[in-house]
Amino acid sequence: MQTSQIRRTFKWILCIYSVFVSAWLYGASGFNDYFMEVWTSHQGLPHNSVNAITQTDDGYLWFATWEGVARYNGLSFELFSRDVKTGIADAGIRTLVADQQNRLWIGGARGGLTLHQDFSWYPQALAKSLINHVLVDHESNLWLAVEGEGVFFRPYLGNNEYGNGRQVLDVGAYRLVQATNGVIYAATSAGVYRVSQTNAEQLSIPSVPDKTRIYYVASDHQDELLIASAKGAWRFDGNTFSPVAEELSGSVVTLIEEDDEGTLWLGTLDKGLARVGYRQVDYIDTQSGLPNNRVISWFQDVEGSIWVGTNGGILRLRTAPFQSVDEQAGLLGNFVRTVLQVPGERFLVGSSEGLSLLEDGQAFPASDDLVARQSVLSLAALDSGDALVGTQRSGVYEWRMGKMRQLYSQGNGLPANEVRALLEDSKGRRWIGTVNGLVLVESDGSMTQINQHNSDLPDDYIMALMEDHRGRIWIGTAQGVAFYDRRNQIKQIDISTYEGAQYVFGFYIEPGFIWMATDRGLLRYDAMQNTLSGIGKPAGLPIDKFFQVIYDHMGSFWLSSNRGIWKVGYVEAHRVASGERHTVNFEHFGEEDGMGSSQANGGSNPAAVSSRGGNLVFATANGIALIRPTALKQLYQYRLPVVVEEVDADGVKVNPKIDKQLGAGVNRVRIKFAGLSYIMPQRLQYQTKLVGFEEEWNYHGNQTVAEYTNLPPGHYEFLVSARYPYGEWNATKHSLKFEIEPLLWQRKDAQLLASLGLLFSIGSLMYWRVHSLKSRQRELAQQVRIKTQALREQSEQYERLAKEDPLTGLYNRRAFDERVRRDFMMASQSLRQLNMAIVDIDHFKQVNDRFSHLVGDEVIKLVAHYLQYTVQPPNIVARWGGEEFTLLIHGDEEEAEKFCQKLLVGVSQLECEALHMQFNLTVSIGLSNALGCSDYQTLLKRADQALYEAKEAGRNRVVKYQEFRIY
Ligand code: GH3
Ligand code: MG
Ligand code: MG
Repeated sequence: MQTSQIRRTFKWILCIYSVFVSAWLYGASGFNDYFMEVWTSHQGLPHNSVNAITQTDDGYLWFATWEGVARYNGLSFELFSRDVKTGIADAGIRTLVADQQNRLWIGGARGGLTLHQDFSWYPQALAKSLINHVLVDHESNLWLAVEGEGVFFRPYLGNNEYGNGRQVLDVGAYRLVQATNGVIYAATSAGVYRVSQTNAEQLSIPSVPDKTRIYYVASDHQDELLIASAKGAWRFDGNTFSPVAEELSGSVVTLIEEDDEGTLWLGTLDKGLARVGYRQVDYIDTQSGLPNNRVISWFQDVEGSIWVGTNGGILRLRTAPFQSVDEQAGLLGNFVRTVLQVPGERFLVGSSEGLSLLEDGQAFPASDDLVARQSVLSLAALDSGDALVGTQRSGVYEWRMGKMRQLYSQGNGLPANEVRALLEDSKGRRWIGTVNGLVLVESDGSMTQINQHNSDLPDDYIMALMEDHRGRIWIGTAQGVAFYDRRNQIKQIDISTYEGAQYVFGFYIEPGFIWMATDRGLLRYDAMQNTLSGIGKPAGLPIDKFFQVIYDHMGSFWLSSNRGIWKVGYVEAHRVASGERHTVNFEHFGEEDGMGSSQANGGSNPAAVSSRGGNLVFATANGIALIRPTALKQLYQYRLPVVVEEVDADGVKVNPKIDKQLGAGVNRVRIKFAGLSYIMPQRLQYQTKLVGFEEEWNYHGNQTVAEYTNLPPGHYEFLVSARYPYGEWNATKHSLKFEIEPLLWQRKDAQLLASLGLLFSIGSLMYWRVHSLKSRQRELAQQVRIKTQALREQSEQYERLAKEDPLTGLYNRRAFDERVRRDFMMASQSLRQLNMAIVDIDHFKQVNDRFSHLVGDEVIKLVAHYLQYTVQPPNIVARWGGEEFTLLIHGDEEEAEKFCQKLLVGVSQLECEALHMQFNLTVSIGLSNALGCSDYQTLLKRADQALYEAKEAGRNRVVKYQEFRIY
């Protein structure tokens, strides 16, 4: 139910997406609309022959190989193979069939058959030989296609149990399918059969010998039968057979399936994968990226991706948010320097090998003229719809109606033939940026050279030109930026004030603001205020050399760089530039997202375009990368399934579906989870919350493990939720409930029993005193004394344990509360003499994250022991919880502060091997004095407030509570 919902949502997204991408860019041209990825044993597959692929309700993908079945969560494979627990009889797995309620059938060599559901396995009786396929019929009965033996029927008995097998056909069988009307078909080594519990009848396919091997049967969306055989493929509507792809009629077809959109896919023995289009059949084979031409299995997942199992690994075809267009699509050259939109969703693409025109997914040489086949660096749109073309070696051309005409070169007035930026402005003037100065060509054709010597131009190496809304021409150079104003003057803006920025590679201009892609980040010049600010490394960006900045009209800037493409929020960028925010959130895209190369090119213009049709197009070192932000946004809104993959308690794996009680005294609980989306799994982000332990959600980034130590006994509910960046947290949070039982001494009843025992012994003692014989009495008295002593000791021990923090041996919160309440009451005459301090380890989360929870525990212990050793009676110290300690300090506030300062120094000098000297262990301390506190709660609250201020002020310090603070 959930799966079909997801599938529907996804289909919708993909529909919109593929309509845009295919129709606009790719038409019906081959497989370009898919991003291909390959998995082999190098990526963790247990074996390269992938016999079957399926997806269970929970979202996992499963791959059957000769070396076991591999479960995939998008990031890693988990292997299940022959063993007693799984009931897998032989590592050779031939078939996988996902069933209702998250059940998975696994069948294979030696007749092995097992059923997997959630975390449990239900091994089944062996079949006579290799199981090629399993069918669960509409009544939940089981049908097996067995190699060399035939088709067998097993009635369902309930409770994942099945009755004895009965043979219904004695011809070795490969595959079974049930039509909506209940009819079951079998593909066998000699023909297609219609089988029932009592009968088997062969269907004869016209002009095909009855003995022909039939490899595969499947149903299409109209409930017609699809048949793949050693002699081609057919469709059967119940009456007649029609061939599916005539050109394959003589070939071995190993499988046939229909995808979501009604396209037929055929596997072959040696020709790879065939896709039957409206008029033609396209192939993917080893030449175009299939790992092997023998296709064994095919599967479409709920996100619409197509997985193909071959003899040499898996190929996955997916509609990628990024598409890459390269020489294969007809581009002249993969090293692309510049792109420009021309009327319609068409693009001129300049590469090192020449100028191409991209239209409907296909690229063509933009001109028949041979001069179009030279290195192109820059482009500019002309009012007429034509374009200026700047080259590397021969100046500027005009591209008009498919013809190239040289306009300007060194021969007629350019200072250099290498042209990196071009512009026709609103007045019809043309600007030519060369590596040796700028040239202004007036409408009447007269040319003026502008350079460092005759103007205030900061440098002669011109890389970017753009006109702003006030008619000023902005000039980006290798040494800064300048603009040409309406009084025909060049004015410089000093950009070195931001991190020493120098190169200005590209502009994005909006009224009032000039954005610049530079070598020190994205800079914003506020033309009204005449101020410059930036978003670079200080704002948290990992790199700061950006070539282009474009806006997607959907709220984000996209920055291109040598290291992929970066997305930052438009409003956020403004806020950082205005000083309202310090850091900027970003998203990064690279080859793993479908870019042909993560090296985007820059240094000439335009190297990226935000098209009128909503596409972003980037020049890269390996073709152009294009993205539809709308598709990405939709992908991010997809609510993805999340699973708990593994739970271990003190290092022992538990089955979370069954073992709800983790036992007493469990110290460490580790929960591994995964969001099951396969489009961009590495981008998924997680948050978790352990209800019963924490109030707030904990953000994990892309970490997939949550670890808890020292959980007190109690009932817990673990919640995990996933999302794509900027997407919504999925509402269907995965939940896992468990309980940690109390240890004997943590149980109230045990504590009560111990006390009662003590009373009883004392009672008995008195009784015997009075009533027994003297000698007997002595003996008994002795016994009772021993018993009483033992009980007293035990009782004391229980009491001690109940007051002690198990990790550190310090007082726990309860014990501290008790003691301090008492001290507070007693001190009420001289409250000045009582102080409370809360000590909190700084940045402790980082210790857990960077090292591990175990190291975290070590650090807590280390600090605890130091405190225990340093804090002397009557002062007391306790572990308040987590990495926080509370101290009761006697004496006046000044003394207490001195003492805290001493602790601060002491902690910073602690040596912790586990941290490998890679973490500065410090604490912050909040201090309050009891004077002016009516009760203990106030004292505590004030210390907490002071601690908060200590953290705010930069940590590693002591802050005293002050009632009136001047800010
Ligand atoms: P700050 O400097 O602001 O105090 O930063 P912080 O990282 O220390 O922040 P915070 O106090 O919010 O985080 C404390 C963390 O300590 C959160 C929790 O995961 C972790 N923690 C709590 N109890 C334990 C424990 O018993 N063992 C370990 N290893 N970690 C714990
Ligand atoms: Mg804390
Ligand atoms: Mg802390």
